[in-house]
Amino acid sequence: VWQKVPALDGEVPTGESGLLRKLSEIKTYSPFVTSYHSWLAQRPDALEYDDRVEWLKCILFFAEQDTDGDGVPDWTALIDGNPSRVLYPQDSDIDGDGTDNVLDPAPFNAKVKGRRAPIKLPAHVKDSRPEVAVLQATLFRKFGILAINHTDRHSPAVLRNLLLLLEHGFTSRLIRGLGGFRYIYAFAGHDARINIAAYHAVANAISIGGMQAYPADTRQLQLPIIATLAHEIGHAFLMHQISPGELKQVSENYGDWREVFTDPTELTLYSAAFFTPHPRRRLASIAPPDAKKSNLISGYAATNIHEWFADAFAAAALLRMGEARRLGQEWRERLVEVPSRSKDYWVNYNNLSDGLLSWIRNKLRPQI
Ligand SMILES: [Zn+2]
Repeated sequence: VWQKVPALDGEVPTGESGLLRKLSEIKTYSPFVTSYHSWLAQRPDALEYDDRVEWLKCILFFAEQDTDGDGVPDWTALIDGNPSRVLYPQDSDIDGDGTDNVLDPAPFNAKVKGRRAPIKLPAHVKDSRPEVAVLQATLFRKFGILAINHTDRHSPAVLRNLLLLLEHGFTSRLIRGLGGFRYIYAFAGHDARINIAAYHAVANAISIGGMQAYPADTRQLQLPIIATLAHEIGHAFLMHQISPGELKQVSENYGDWREVFTDPTELTLYSAAFFTPHPRRRLASIAPPDAKKSNLISGYAATNIHEWFADAFAAAALLRMGEARRLGQEWRERLVEVPSRSKDYWVNYNNLSDGLLSWIRNKLRPQI
């Protein structure tokens, strides 16, 4: 069933540089080669030369697989901007039958299709608990988002808060059009306090804790869940709707990030500049008013531009939620967390300036 990318038939190179050159010729693989070089520069002793060659040969074999021949390789070895030893499906419809892998009863067989655009939640995804199944169905019907049990089962508390956020923090057209966020997985590796959730760009998915982290069902607004989900959606929005040039511009204009842009080579969203800590991060953990001036929503936002933007995006959603639900001053006060010790985590969603707020709203506007 495997079909090779036609241009790539021929000899397999034996050395590292030859393999990398061959990989860079494959459509969508040049970011892999770039990040491989910087990975190697940072950790030259991580793998012996021979092991690296074996690894690259293996990647090349899979990189050449393109089942439906659409030019998008089935697999990628670039996960969240880093070379990975685990492959991930890159073509969201590997067999090209029009049904996304996740909805396809036979993802490698073009003759077996699922429903191209199912209106109802696919049966194999549906949870056996009625209250969760209702939430899954609502998320899917209103926003086209599939909530899938992975290494844990979804908690109704999480899904209820996700629905509140999607209904009041954004317009439904924005979320429906946001290709970077299609799935939410319940993942056993997450907890409710520190490692709350993650965004997986390649999978168009957010992972978050399930029943183990959130055992109690509640109908209450739970700010940590909502704020975290809004932050992860910010990552999805950035990866899919913002160009590297725009990101540079907005971070310079509103975040005081100018000094991180030292490398004159062309920017990608995975460039080192976007993963460099804030220039003034060390100065007293950037307490206000500096934080407000740089649109730093939290201490964590100084980690790098991606986190800075995701936090600002979350702030815009949370502020809209307060307006949309007329939660008023009480809500504004809940958006601030002041730690007892100065080095602890702090957050203030009101730190978003009017300038950046209108930049984000303008950026969202075409989709409203
Ligand atoms: Zn983040």
